[in-house]
Amino acid sequence: MTATREMYGGKVETTNELTGNAVVTIRGAEWPGADGTGDAEIREFHAEIDEDAVRSTVTGFEEVGGGDVDIGEADVLVSVGRGIEEEENLEIIEELADALDATVSSSRPIVDNGWLPKNRQVGQSGKVVTPDVYIAIGISGAVQHVAGMKGSETIVAINTDPNAPIMDIADYAIHDDLFDVVPALTEEFQ
Ligand SMILES: Cc1cc2nc3c(=O)[nH]c(=O)nc-3n(C[C@H](O)[C@H](O)[C@H](O)COP(=O)(O)OP(=O)(O)OC[C@H]3O[C@@H](n4cnc5c(N)ncnc54)[C@H](O)[C@@H]3O)c2cc1C
Repeated sequence: MTATREMYGGKVETTNELTGNAVVTIRGAEWPGADGTGDAEIREFHAEIDEDAVRSTVTGFEEVGGGDVDIGEADVLVSVGRGIEEEENLEIIEELADALDATVSSSRPIVDNGWLPKNRQVGQSGKVVTPDVYIAIGISGAVQHVAGMKGSETIVAINTDPNAPIMDIADYAIHDDLFDVVPALTEEFQ
């Protein structure tokens, strides 16, 4: 069996040959179910594991904050990044999301600042999402972010920097100030 995996934040892809016993884990929402129906059979089995061979210990389980919102399930994500500048400005993002009946997600700095809970973070150390529409607002498109959203069906990017990496992967790139574009879009969608 061989398995392909990304390393170094998605910069390289490696093919690993698995010999003997192996445990393979797959991130949620990364691929659609192989049979396309999403109801593949799940079989339980009892694994004999020598405890001395396990070098880590589970000491507890902590719920990720933010309630039961699952950004991995959303059809439309309105995602916000550092370009929003201030926590109070998130209001215009929420208004756009409301107008589109969408869910708000974000890049990591927004979560690190404590402006949104961890369960809203898209990316390598957040969630992998594959919505129909992903609107990236004031997000540069760092590899660690793109790793979590590159599978989106349609990507819309709003950014003042035409050379931001997110503009290269966007289906629709809006090169303008988010503080002008976002309220205009909200009005239009309302
Ligand atoms: C191990 C590791 C794991 C990581 N995991 C993640 C992860 O899971 N998710 C993640 O997102 N990041 C992750 N990061 C961080 C990542 O490297 C970037 O720092 C982060 O994604 C940048 O977020 P950003 O695009 O919001 O901010 P920035 O890179 O600062 O980009 C802000 C963008 O906003 C634009 N902008 C500014 N003002 C305006 C305006 N008025 N109108 C329109 N556009 C504007 C700018 O041109 C810029 O492109 C990780 C980093 C490491 C090292």
